Amino acid sequence: MLVSAKEMLQKAKAGRYAVGQFNINNLEWTKAILLTAQEMNSPVILGVSEGAGKYMCGFKTVTEMVKCMIDELKITVPVALHLDHGTYEGCYRCIEAGFSSIMFDGSHYPIEENVEKTKELVKVCAEKGMSLEAEVGAIGGEEDGVVGMGECADPEECKQIADLGVTMLAAGIGNIHGKYPANWQGLSFETLAAVSEKVGAMPLVLHGGTGIPADQIKKAISLGVSKINVNTECQLSFAAAVRKYIEEGKDLQGKGFDPRKLLAPGVEAIKATVREKMELFGSVGKA
Ligand SMILES: [Zn+2]
Repeated sequence: MLVSAKEMLQKAKAGRYAVGQFNINNLEWTKAILLTAQEMNSPVILGVSEGAGKYMCGFKTVTEMVKCMIDELKITVPVALHLDHGTYEGCYRCIEAGFSSIMFDGSHYPIEENVEKTKELVKVCAEKGMSLEAEVGAIGGEEDGVVGMGECADPEECKQIADLGVTMLAAGIGNIHGKYPANWQGLSFETLAAVSEKVGAMPLVLHGGTGIPADQIKKAISLGVSKINVNTECQLSFAAAVRKYIEEGKDLQGKGFDPRKLLAPGVEAIKATVREKMELFGSVGKA
């Protein structure tokens, strides 16, 4: 069964650990993440970008696949199915498709319009028992073709959005999607501490979890981050493992070309990455 991310994140905030959001791209990805969450007895959030939703033949296909997989694999840990960086229209498509959580990325709207649209979605999500993530301050890097510079959020604006009744808040603190450049300045803990103080018990979300050093991750969790998004890292480990299989010529041996065999090392690599992140985030055994 899919659940909203509300309870798992409130527990994480109180217990000073974070729940990982791992983005999915296909069946292999979903299966690898669900099985690892179950094995680690950890709550988990499956992230779906609008691009990935389109790739997987629409949000309804995704919802049904995830629901059936939870049933078939006997997954009992809490699983939230979450729209990542949703547009206003995308949010409504996911609500209709049966997602249990959405992110409305209104960070590119003027604050007044972000507030208006967020307010409306707070109401709809409350009626449906869904969780809602809002974003203040653009997160750097590229996401579905949109390039941001990695701003630091204004703590006052964060409070304004948090007070609308969203479930969790993504605040830009110098974090970037994708690989971090060599001259990256690190996370702004000053901003994070200021935001944390303003929003109180509201769980904070850290996007761009790939490549942030472990000590910075731990410090961010201690300052109120309860959800960390990981996407690129699973892609990199998947690609490296499949590349190795092919470079070693294993696809040319016997039935090594069978897609189930060809993709198996990639699946194992995703599992290892997810396991490692759950240990770092402290969510192991918290289901
Ligand atoms: Zn993001």
